[in-house]
Amino acid sequence: MEQWKTAAFRRLATPLTTVVGAATAKAFVGLNCETLGDLLRLLPRHLMSGTDVTDIQALIAANRGSEEYVAVMARVARVDVKGTVPKQRLEVRLTDGRGWLGATFFGRASLIQYWQRLLSQSDRGIFAGKLGWFNDSPQLAHPAFVMITPDGFVGSAQGAKMAAQVSTGSFIGLYPQTAKLPTWTVAESIDLGLAHMAGLSDPMPAWVRDAAHVSELEQAFRHVHQPSSESEFEQGRRRLLFDEAFATQVAMAYRRNDASTHTAVPRNGVAQGLLGAFDERLPFALTQEQLAAGEAIRSELARTRPMQRLLQGEVGSGKTVVALRAMLTVVDSGGQACLVAPTEVLAQQQADTVTHLLGDLAQGGLLSGGFGTEIVVLTGSMTASAKGEALGRIASGQAGIIIGTHAVLSKAVAFRDLGLVVIDEQHRFGVEQRNSLAERGAARPHVLVMTATPIPRSVAMTVFGDLDVSTLTNPPQGRAEVTTTVVDVQLHPTWVDRAWARVGEEVARGRQAYVVAPRIDLTDAHEGASVVELAERLSSGPLHGLRLAVLHGRLPATEKADIMARFTRGDIDVLVATSMIEVGLDQPNATMMVICDADRFGVSQLHQLRGRIGRGAFPGVCLLLTSAEDGTPARERLEAVAATRDGFALAQADLAQRREGDVLGMSQSGRRSSLRLLRVLDHADLIELARDIARQVVERDRAMTDAGVADYVHDIEARADADLAEAA
Ligand code: ADP
Ligand code: MG
Repeated sequence: MEQWKTAAFRRLATPLTTVVGAATAKAFVGLNCETLGDLLRLLPRHLMSGTDVTDIQALIAANRGSEEYVAVMARVARVDVKGTVPKQRLEVRLTDGRGWLGATFFGRASLIQYWQRLLSQSDRGIFAGKLGWFNDSPQLAHPAFVMITPDGFVGSAQGAKMAAQVSTGSFIGLYPQTAKLPTWTVAESIDLGLAHMAGLSDPMPAWVRDAAHVSELEQAFRHVHQPSSESEFEQGRRRLLFDEAFATQVAMAYRRNDASTHTAVPRNGVAQGLLGAFDERLPFALTQEQLAAGEAIRSELARTRPMQRLLQGEVGSGKTVVALRAMLTVVDSGGQACLVAPTEVLAQQQADTVTHLLGDLAQGGLLSGGFGTEIVVLTGSMTASAKGEALGRIASGQAGIIIGTHAVLSKAVAFRDLGLVVIDEQHRFGVEQRNSLAERGAARPHVLVMTATPIPRSVAMTVFGDLDVSTLTNPPQGRAEVTTTVVDVQLHPTWVDRAWARVGEEVARGRQAYVVAPRIDLTDAHEGASVVELAERLSSGPLHGLRLAVLHGRLPATEKADIMARFTRGDIDVLVATSMIEVGLDQPNATMMVICDADRFGVSQLHQLRGRIGRGAFPGVCLLLTSAEDGTPARERLEAVAATRDGFALAQADLAQRREGDVLGMSQSGRRSSLRLLRVLDHADLIELARDIARQVVERDRAMTDAGVADYVHDIEARADADLAEAA
């Protein structure tokens, strides 16, 4: 059970079942709503006054090519009964005065008559359903609907509440919805939810509310859901946005405060140590930026305060080498360094990379004239005896470098002297996670976080307020060109054949290729091509005779490792994979990547996927296959990726669309993430304000005695943990 200190947080944590009943609560899972708090933070997508109609053309433009559940308020222009009994259907033409939208109903004659009667009660109604395409014109098949009449709503028993809103001249919120939850059921549930919050006092300290000029919580909930004006809605929304900014910034401010009270063991390195030997053996010269980052890290490792540094740089920018040099400094100083990867596969790959980079220095001091260090891998899927042996080496200090998933940070692992923790791929890992490792004993390890999702510095300062930042912007020389092209598979179906032919040509030249698809197989919930089917189709068709292998997350760990090893050795020509290859695989011989249903991936994901090719001397070709039409947001994202390989430019474009939760590293699908509304760029001012206030909160109350503040912090951390557990 959660230990809430305020009645408001306790109430907000109420399971939805208690509020709306089990059946409706189940339907809300599709909207990521599990508690009363989730429900009340579900904001209307559109706010309409009683006299508005939906802009149908804009709606269509925004949803072209996809099959979203939409709700429209529209006029009924025509109602026609088509066909003959018993196969009749009702065809309805909806309009906003400019655009048109069809709606079709099928059913028995008596039902057809009934619907026809309802539809004729008024010339205006709200229609909710899945937007589909029929002969290229937009259609709602069997939408749920309510008609707005002077006497209220007809068509749905639940429409009554909304009818009341319209008749008082106020606004109707159209909510995000699913097949099982039309917008008015959402509205009705929220109405029940609001009653549960009545009379509870606001958990946010009054002085904070005053300083931020935000309204009181219960009032904010009422204002966003039942506004009597647009400015009332905006006021309410601002409070809910501020809640999210406040929670994260206060949590960080306390963490920063906490960190500043801790000490770390200085790790000074030695003059003639492993680091020196490593640098001597490096087959290339470090770039200026690598040297600068290394210098910043070196000086921080030598301090008595724990280092908290973010090392950001695109895939292939040379972060691993920088991190390894930091690890060697710590090993040279007699301590241990631990590298944490987001998945087992990546942990194993990191271990291979590090072992390879270290060469004979990874021999535990047996070769190389008496020095060297031992690398130990620790993952969840190891056998008990292998794990026991690894734990022994970690505890005795025989292992200088430990590599694993976040399980290495659990209490079960005893280090002899942990001096540095390097966390790879922060964006997958979670800001909150960092601290779980910091709570080992009096002196804390130094922490280096690496991320390949570049974050503009201004944002990094605001969001990662508790980290110092080093950035690698210029990749080491010797990178090859990569040309990216968007292939419209509807418009140019023959280009797809050409793509496969091109894969064949690359392989004939001795190169290798990746084919990426969004799904594993048909049982996946996502739409889009699946790797299993695709591999079958390719190997019996256009890529017949090539050595193909399938790689995805549901394969056993040993099989995954084996396939990657074979690809790295060159024993596989074409790897047909899910996005799991997005980080870690390093095969400079791979020159081509075909991404199917590319619109199913996000910008940064595409950028990272593409980072797998052009890693060697050979120029690369990346093809983004899509059926997203020209002009749609999905298509624009792809065009942006094709237009540049500058990860920072892409990140800027992408960031504007993302929620802060994603940037903070909480999983994007994270169901519990409380950062539902906040967007980093849009709300930079509010985040800044929250940051200032958070600093004052900590100054006034270092021990976190305020019950409301404690609940905000506890809430955000619990959600982040839950998201992480789910992602693991
Ligand atoms: P990241 O971890 O940022 O994705 P890596 O550290 O894995 O990047 O580096 C990518 C590749 O570039 C590796 O093969 C690495 O050995 C190589 N590399 C790193 N730094 C340099 C450099 N200064 N000059 C040439 N090659 C480098
Ligand atoms: Mg790396």
